[in-house]
Amino acid sequence: MIAHKSSWVLPVSGPPIRDGAVVVQGDRIHAVGPAAEVLAGFRGLICEHGAGAILPGVVNCHVHLEFSALAGMVAPQERWEDWLEAALAAFGARSPGEIRAGIAHGIEALRRSGAVLVGEVTNTGTSWPHLAASSLSYHLFYECLGFHLVERFELPEAFPWFGQPEVAAAGCISAAAHAPYSVSGALFQAVDQWNAARLAPQMVHLAESRAELDFLAGGNGFFEGLLKRRGRWVPDFQPPGVSPPAYLHGLEFLGPRTLAVHGAWLSAGDCGLLADTGTWLVLCPRANRFTGAGTPPVAELVKAGVNLALGTDSLAGNRDLNLFGEMLWLRENFPAYPGEWWLRLGTLNGARALGREADLGSLEPGKQAALGFIPLSGGRDFWGELFTAGAAGKWRWLG
Ligand SMILES: [Zn+2]
Repeated sequence: MIAHKSSWVLPVSGPPIRDGAVVVQGDRIHAVGPAAEVLAGFRGLICEHGAGAILPGVVNCHVHLEFSALAGMVAPQERWEDWLEAALAAFGARSPGEIRAGIAHGIEALRRSGAVLVGEVTNTGTSWPHLAASSLSYHLFYECLGFHLVERFELPEAFPWFGQPEVAAAGCISAAAHAPYSVSGALFQAVDQWNAARLAPQMVHLAESRAELDFLAGGNGFFEGLLKRRGRWVPDFQPPGVSPPAYLHGLEFLGPRTLAVHGAWLSAGDCGLLADTGTWLVLCPRANRFTGAGTPPVAELVKAGVNLALGTDSLAGNRDLNLFGEMLWLRENFPAYPGEWWLRLGTLNGARALGREADLGSLEPGKQAALGFIPLSGGRDFWGELFTAGAAGKWRWLG
């Protein structure tokens, strides 16, 4: 048994503990509490880490490792449409070797910054063996696009990847629907059916851009042009005339197993719908700023009681994959809220969203000993200092 001791322990499942300790046995947490209590009679090795905080590894619910090779190649944009065009062009110019090297680099960056679990969105399955060989826990979302697939079908008929025996047997794989402007109603239903049979989480980019709202309302504009250029346009498409969440609700795609991502363009009514259906919203606020998508309505989401988690999105649309950057952004932009909320979004809530809260997301006896340490100088803004240090790469794994 080893005990880790420091001036603060942040279990997340309970309030911060001053002068706390975490006792680890093998790969599991044995005890958490004030050092004076937890270490009374303790005869194992005690590691004194000093001024700072011991906390659980973070959960990044939304990354695209296959875009890591685009790091530094796509500039921040004012208009999301311009960002998408730039990202698609840059991705098309990368070789398979560059994509694989990017994945390896992305996994290393995630680990270094304190990530223990990721929700990875893959378009080809290329990132799967890299993740399987890494020390990161993951849930793999194989992303489906198909606006033209309008007839009812079973998922493996159109996406043979799902028919592979190793995919069917893996417990950490889901189907994802890309977005309402790139996925037909029939494809949403096929994705939902495949995931429901496995009680697996599912993911969808939702209300990311203003153009998405316009498309669902009127069926024209930027996405009609994009779909036509890609040979995916459906001439008799009838726009549903409702908001993105209302559209998915009509397709019975919302619910506690669904992780909607972004939500930069949600109305108060949309927030209520996400809350009522128990749908998760994965906020990627720095990515939304980078791509020109906008800013998620955090105050409305909190007020409505939406289940919230965090992601960074990809290195094509964010400066790094460090989730503390997202927490710092929330802390700075919403200083009235308790700082510990943002840590909870990036740890326990993420583990819940991905169905892994029995093992990860907080420091509790019986959970995996996936914990780290961030040094702090003891300034007045505890949470601001914690997120700033985490965002600056001060995380150190313990154990
Ligand atoms: Zn994304």
